[in-house]
Amino acid sequence: MRVLIDTQFATTAIRAAGTERDSLDRILSVCLEHHAIPYLYAGHYQTIAQELLKELGSEGATSEIKQLSERVRWWPATAEDCQPIASQDLLHSPMLRALSRMGDDALLVTANDEFLGSDKRAVSPVGFLSLFAQEDQNEKKVAFVDLGRQLDGMRDEMERAIWRVIDSTSFINGPAVGELERRLAEHTGIDHAIGCSSGTDALILAMMALGVERGDEIIVPDFTYIATGSMVALMGATPVFVDIDPATFNIDPDAIEHAVTEKTVGIIPVSLYGQVADMDRVNAIAKARGLWVIEDGAQSYGATYHGRRSCSLTRVSTTSFFPAKPLGGYGDGGAVFTNDDELAIKMRRILNHGQRKRYDHQVIGLNARLDTLQAAVVGVKLSHFDEELALRRRVARWYSSALAGAEQIITPIVLDHNESSWAQYTVRIPSRVRVRELMSYRKIPTAVHYPIPLHRQEAFQHRPYRVESVTHAEQAAAEVLSLPMHPFLTSEEVQRIARAFIESVGAASA
Ligand SMILES: *Cc1c(COP(=O)(O)O)cnc(C)c1O
Repeated sequence: MRVLIDTQFATTAIRAAGTERDSLDRILSVCLEHHAIPYLYAGHYQTIAQELLKELGSEGATSEIKQLSERVRWWPATAEDCQPIASQDLLHSPMLRALSRMGDDALLVTANDEFLGSDKRAVSPVGFLSLFAQEDQNEKKVAFVDLGRQLDGMRDEMERAIWRVIDSTSFINGPAVGELERRLAEHTGIDHAIGCSSGTDALILAMMALGVERGDEIIVPDFTYIATGSMVALMGATPVFVDIDPATFNIDPDAIEHAVTEKTVGIIPVSLYGQVADMDRVNAIAKARGLWVIEDGAQSYGATYHGRRSCSLTRVSTTSFFPAKPLGGYGDGGAVFTNDDELAIKMRRILNHGQRKRYDHQVIGLNARLDTLQAAVVGVKLSHFDEELALRRRVARWYSSALAGAEQIITPIVLDHNESSWAQYTVRIPSRVRVRELMSYRKIPTAVHYPIPLHRQEAFQHRPYRVESVTHAEQAAAEVLSLPMHPFLTSEEVQRIARAFIESVGAASA
């Protein structure tokens, strides 16, 4: 939740010392305590600076602004805020316009009677403090993924990065794309990282570059997001759905061995929920049989396997920058990764209509480029990513200890040699429908990743596919439930979710 502090109230309070000053200080501490983010309107920066300079002189004003900037953030002004409008209030109307961009639950803390009388988002300083004094934390809605909270911590960098692209007007293959690719390659520990338009297109790019042909068989887990299997079918190849290891939800290497035929050309293990699949065994099977391997790392960017990063562990890997993934952009995007120079060149060409030189097209390709704006956004996110990974791991530990020993709830297992990127915190329970309903009464969202195993999706029924014995995949599809997961969940929120969950599971089975 965001709190805009009225410019006039803030400047008066800072100049005043005494009770008004105390009231501003209390408001800022209450915000901190309740994870609300206090903002001042950036369009009023000069007003604030001038007022303070008048009163306190240069040194005093500078030190006040410095202190203030440590405790509040600046909400951006836009050109639109300054358009002449009907209101007579020239001074305040831009700030009120800015307030309307702050989200449905944003509040304006003000001592201005006119706002207090006319705007339902306006609360007085005393009103604000009493609001939080009574507020029952149990009533607050939890976000499944909270991109707003994330943005509050990187707003100035994000604005700079986005506006730099827009003002450059270099929207396709701008410098941010190459820069992101270099940073991703270094972060992953691989020679080539190549940005593309989505995690789905990344799979297509990899398979086109590997020369997949109609009739080829490709082994995929039966329990994954649709794209892993559907892109195989789109290539005209035959997906062969195999079972998972019930402990990790990842592809079972024994099932792969069982499924290989002379038509098999490759294997696409998925590192589900952020935990890397058993890549050494998958790679060994592939090597012995002359198959390629693509790691579908859409959910596992940042995870490690025996200390090495996901997306660096096999011939080609793919990831997704879909907004809700661990490393998400502000729209669709993805990347492919490889140490194979030749394959890298092929994928680079295919994603740009097979173009070798301008208007010289060597092969049939796609338009699957990563756009410059998304590259800039993901670049900012990448600067904070390792820190966020540590926070995700902390949230997962909080969940697992809060849920430990709870009846009928099986918490996720991460193998010793793995560190998950915790794309999801997914548990198993015997029966889901009633539990989800009880959770939603308590304003706690849950999700099912994924309710239908691929071999039973209608989309595959009119094309060739094979399915092996998939009892564990079936059981997982019936039992999994994902709880809210993002780096900025607080310990209190996790405790509250866990308590509500244990009670809901108990009530549902009673
Ligand atoms: C999200 C996801 C994809 C697809 O990524 P998009 O960027 O949404 O196209 C593929 N595979 C898995 C396992 C995913 O979770």
